[in-house]
Amino acid sequence: MQDDNDSMAPRHIYDVLIVGAGPVGLATAIALHKRGIHNILVIDQTHEFRNVGQGLDLLPNGLRAIKYIASEAYENITKAAFKGNQPLESPSQAGDGPDKSTRPPKSRWRQINVQGETTRSIPTDFQSWFERYGEGRINVSWFNLQTALRSLLPPDLVQANHRCVHVEEEAERVRIDVTSDVGHSTNPFAHWEMMQSKAETATLAQDHRGADHKSFYAKLVIAADGINSTIRQILYNQQGLKRWAKPQYSGFAAISSTIQGVPSSIMEDLATQYIKGDFIITVHNNSDELDFPELKRLRLILIRLSNNTVAYLLYAPFKLDAWQHKSLTQILRLGIDTLLNAEFPPIFRTLVGLSNPEKLSLRPFFIHPVNTQNNGHLPWCHGRVTLVGDAAHAMPPFMAQGVNQGFEDAAVISTLIAQMIPAHGLEQDTTITTTLEKYEHLRQPFVSQVQTATMDCHQWTQAQWDTFNEKLHRRAYPSFVTLGELN
Ligand SMILES: Cc1cc2nc3c(=O)[nH]c(=O)nc-3n(C[C@H](O)[C@H](O)[C@H](O)COP(=O)(O)OP(=O)(O)OC[C@H]3O[C@@H](n4cnc5c(N)ncnc54)[C@H](O)[C@@H]3O)c2cc1C
Repeated sequence: MQDDNDSMAPRHIYDVLIVGAGPVGLATAIALHKRGIHNILVIDQTHEFRNVGQGLDLLPNGLRAIKYIASEAYENITKAAFKGNQPLESPSQAGDGPDKSTRPPKSRWRQINVQGETTRSIPTDFQSWFERYGEGRINVSWFNLQTALRSLLPPDLVQANHRCVHVEEEAERVRIDVTSDVGHSTNPFAHWEMMQSKAETATLAQDHRGADHKSFYAKLVIAADGINSTIRQILYNQQGLKRWAKPQYSGFAAISSTIQGVPSSIMEDLATQYIKGDFIITVHNNSDELDFPELKRLRLILIRLSNNTVAYLLYAPFKLDAWQHKSLTQILRLGIDTLLNAEFPPIFRTLVGLSNPEKLSLRPFFIHPVNTQNNGHLPWCHGRVTLVGDAAHAMPPFMAQGVNQGFEDAAVISTLIAQMIPAHGLEQDTTITTTLEKYEHLRQPFVSQVQTATMDCHQWTQAQWDTFNEKLHRRAYPSFVTLGELN
């Protein structure tokens, strides 16, 4: 089958073309394939599927969406997550979750104030979440998640080395122009690559000389091409929404490093006063007396990796000009000064001060807001094209909802398309517009609430967390997909 520009008429028109073989694009493809829509294709810009990305938490709402999409996908993902973990000492009675013998032991993530008092405690193990919400929580790497999903699709249905560079709506179909064999392939997950220096960005700008160009045609296009979505940029630029085409700085950035050889006196104080027997804690100062009240939102996450090795992640509402165009030494100073302004005890500043600036990382967080002050809800659909996942609503990972919300998108859009095709086909523009608008209306109000919660949750009490989690994790399938029981 060829899909090129050799002749005026396309040789093949797909029912659905999905741009982006990340978790959300693949979950959508699996859902459609399973529901009898086989004339589909997924394309991805990556030269080859390689081990990129980092650990992601999948929470009950995302796992429930995946289970609804395909039970095999749920099995594959949970297996990938539990591989290498110790079996449980005492197996739980947690219903029909994954094989109990391979579930990891219970653990928790404590949040404490600067006095060392626990203000919140979240279990991080599968079983505790399963017992509470009827579905668990796992941590899986982006690549293992991608592989677990990709293995469920026929190999020729997912094609790497196709970078979408243009989208064009034609009569009753959409044309997607792609390039292959471009000079350089970037890490698709690391959206902070955007913040690199001009010289680096110039290298990343694709060298299209010698690249292969062709076009694909489809009745419907699903843009799952991530936070830097090309399709979003093209559609928004055409619709006068240029300001919202690219991700916005969320107002938060994280400074992180791993410190080896922490002196034992510091380690002992940290352990007895703050870390106690835990692996991971978050420290905050929610005092109403702070001279810099915005620093109530600062969080210092400490991960004890061994007796004298600690990794930290300091995330705070840093202004753009506080970290942009600054050296790593200046960024380290920013972190230490911010801890001082947030009135953290000296031991934390001493710990961060042990960082080697050369090994420091700075990670700004970006967002595609669903709801904007001036433009209201931004459109996700245009004609026969719709955005899903990060392309639609990327958000910082403070509530670990990026992929989880994306899986909910996949569940909803695939259900609506699988209902539409047998009933009405894919010829009429109006039917397609109605279906895509329904998806948008079903999803946007809830995702908007999740984004607001993501930005506000730093100051929540345990009770506020519990209330929101009840709402987030208890929705049942398929009723919320078909009836819109979202709010
Ligand atoms: C530090 C960090 C921690 C996170 N932690 C969590 C967490 O714990 N839980 C959670 O739910 N979420 C988390 N997220 C968010 C999560 O990673 C994203 O929400 C998720 O990866 C989005 O999936 P996606 O499929 O929409 O996009 P992506 O994962 O970005 O995949 C997009 C795919 O599209 C491809 N692509 C891009 N452009 C093109 C193009 N022009 N043509 C063809 N293909 C293209 C890319 O190669 C990629 O394969 C975290 C994010 C970060 C940065």
